[in-house]
Amino acid sequence: MQNNRRFHRSPQREAIYDYVAARKSHLSAEEIYAALRLRHPRLSMGTVYRNLHILVAQGRLVALRFGSGQDLYDARLDLHAHLLCRGCGDLLDADIPAMPDLDQWAGKRILDFQVDGYSLVFSGLCKSCRKRQAAAPS
Ligand SMILES: [Zn+2]
Ligand SMILES: [Zn+2]
Repeated sequence: MQNNRRFHRSPQREAIYDYVAARKSHLSAEEIYAALRLRHPRLSMGTVYRNLHILVAQGRLVALRFGSGQDLYDARLDLHAHLLCRGCGDLLDADIPAMPDLDQWAGKRILDFQVDGYSLVFSGLCKSCRKRQAAAPS
């Protein structure tokens, strides 16, 4: 008898996962909803939020949170740094070597704080924002 129906496969959830995984990008719930609602007319914003929550709980997606901004969802699960563009708000993967021991190192140095993770985000301007800035008359 199956009494745990929480993790039954849901076509909507798989569509959400597939969309995030295929984009190799970082998407907000609103972006995912806007992209999928045409093909999935019964999809609601609440369904998107609920399924994203489950996908994160299942360890299939990572939710990234920056300050007071909305969560962005990442299908890339290995520890990696990010680049955040302050021009357009784009979040890109930074392909620099990960520093898997940084949290251990920090944990030894921070009194009475148990470190269980970290995120590394570089801020700056992406290529197209720099181009736009260079082209704009001053
Ligand atoms: Zn930009
Ligand atoms: Zn990423």
